Amino acid sequence: MKDRPVKQSPELDRVEHTMRPMYLCAEGFLGKDPRKLIEILTEDQGTVNSLGLSHGTIAQRLKGITERARSGWGDPVVVEDKFEVEVEEARGKIPCPWGHPGLYPKTHVKLKKRETGEVLIWSDLSIHLIEEHGFYQGKGSTYRLDPPKVKRILEI
Ligand SMILES: [Zn+2]
Repeated sequence: MKDRPVKQSPELDRVEHTMRPMYLCAEGFLGKDPRKLIEILTEDQGTVNSLGLSHGTIAQRLKGITERARSGWGDPVVVEDKFEVEVEEARGKIPCPWGHPGLYPKTHVKLKKRETGEVLIWSDLSIHLIEEHGFYQGKGSTYRLDPPKVKRILEI
């Protein structure tokens, strides 16, 4: 997007700082994305709007699939006849980089679409970051949930 540069608040500067690798998790939330956090948020907001979706709708879809797949206790569960989903509960918990109280389990959810073989990966924290902060993580991050890809694969 070629919008004018957006000014980033000191609060977002702090959040961005904790998202770089080695603070909250080894890999960081931003991958190799060199952009300021405010630019990532603004661009993804525009994309979600243009898809006719909201952060809430996307988060609810991810949440619903995660809940259904939890019954597999780590074994793949078939959801809606379309997806094979594995939920792995890793040890340890991780805080929200925005400083919300509470810790999120380091869940690892891996979804494979049976028809196409496409894969999406997310965690409980990913869902919170989308729902509360409109944050889909940086480009190149393992947990990046690119909105158009999420819409296509999950048929939202
Ligand atoms: Zn938060």
